[in-house]
Amino acid sequence: MFRPSRIEIDRAAIAHNIQELRKRIPQAIMAVVKANGYGHGAVEVAKVALENGATMLGVALLEEAIELRDAGISAPILVMEAQFPDAAGVAAERGITLSVFSAEWLEEAKQFLNGQTLTVHIKVDTGMGRLGLRSREELDAMLNAANESFDLEGIYTHFATADELGSELYYEQQERFERLIEGLHDRFRYVHTSNSAGAIRMAGQDVPYNLVRVGIAMYGLYPSAEMQGFYSFLRPAFTLKSKLMHVKRLEAGQTISYGATYTTSTEEWIGTVPVGYADGWLRKASGFEVDVEGERCPIVGRVCMDRFMIRLPREYPVGTDVTLIGGPIAIDELAMYLETINYEIVCEFTGRLPRHYV
Ligand SMILES: *Cc1c(COP(=O)(O)O)cnc(C)c1O
Repeated sequence: MFRPSRIEIDRAAIAHNIQELRKRIPQAIMAVVKANGYGHGAVEVAKVALENGATMLGVALLEEAIELRDAGISAPILVMEAQFPDAAGVAAERGITLSVFSAEWLEEAKQFLNGQTLTVHIKVDTGMGRLGLRSREELDAMLNAANESFDLEGIYTHFATADELGSELYYEQQERFERLIEGLHDRFRYVHTSNSAGAIRMAGQDVPYNLVRVGIAMYGLYPSAEMQGFYSFLRPAFTLKSKLMHVKRLEAGQTISYGATYTTSTEEWIGTVPVGYADGWLRKASGFEVDVEGERCPIVGRVCMDRFMIRLPREYPVGTDVTLIGGPIAIDELAMYLETINYEIVCEFTGRLPRHYV
């Protein structure tokens, strides 16, 4: 590996976060590792999570589940995105659980099963307005349509506002879910509602749910600024590091990068950092700051595809470490600068940046 730019994932931080969650939450933990483990590496994160007490994995796509199986992971895996019925055969064969929400889907999927049984969780829409059934009639139709071809193992819903403490919708969704599944809790092995924010909010409460789906908290990040009070034990696992590739002194009046949007005002030391928007370090990060040996240095001029430039307080040797994310530079600070959320930041880094596990 020649490239000095890398994402470092702290396995111990993920282990710590899972362990701390387990201390507070009585429910079983599904570790959500969709989107390549929120950019952290799905297989590596899944292994750490399972070693530390998670008992199930959650992904969005069947392909993501197959990747985990191909890596030798045998734990139950729930695919949370909808799949077309022709996915049923492969899912059953590989022991992968699908999310379903219509009787017609079950009918159609049967032809792909070749006598195998497919495990499914029923998805209920109580306020997201995306996937899921919305009425007891639809649910009853599914219960009737499922024969020995399907193991209806679970039923679940997803909150739109679990990370907003003042939201009424959060409580309304719980009520809708309870009304819809009234009298049916015992019909399912797993009844679940909560993402990271919901899981922590339910800690210590007596709820009729026995599984939580934890993503962002496992990675050590807060679902929202206002959830930080609940989550003070989390430790972020993600850092992005590089090294100064080139350092030079420019006299006053010199321009930097495309569009010549930055002009040196005096003599300045300018360093080049080999991370660009093709790595997921967005052009919009122009003007943000990175850390060089404990000093914050502004990104000057536009971020390029493969690199960006920073203004250094003094001359530094080529090869000096630069921290783009981690330590003094919190992901949440970058997220705020880019007017987005930490979830999007960790997902946006491309496969061109190698992941190192420490
Ligand atoms: C992604 C996802 C989660 C995990 O959410 P976090 O906020 O990251 O904990 C849980 N449930 C569903 C249905 C999801 O799609």
